Amino acid sequence: MAKPYKNKINRIRSFALSLIFIGVIIMYVGIFFRSNQILMLIFMILGVFSILGSTVIYAWIGMLSTKAVQVVCPSCGKPTKMLGRADMCGHCREPLTLDPTLEGKEFDERYNKKSSQE
Ligand SMILES: [Zn+2]
Repeated sequence: MAKPYKNKINRIRSFALSLIFIGVIIMYVGIFFRSNQILMLIFMILGVFSILGSTVIYAWIGMLSTKAVQVVCPSCGKPTKMLGRADMCGHCREPLTLDPTLEGKEFDERYNKKSSQE
């Protein structure tokens, strides 16, 4: 059975990657509107913004990675980086937690929001 959650860093990275593809596709679509220069310009600008956005996200991932905690997954034995108090193993998607009170509990995205604990 597939686990519903993905490792956060992997999830953000795949979003950034898809943003590049979307940007390229938008610019490609813009070529079809050669006859209308304003429309083509709009498509080109949107495409460039999409790719720029992806670059920003990549830089953000780099910053997050330096703050992420490297742990060895107890399930598959591979090192993985986790964000927040609860995250997924990037290799086998095993739920991981830094908080011993959450140990053994069903993984829940809410554990990452501090307010749910108060
Ligand atoms: Zn693992």
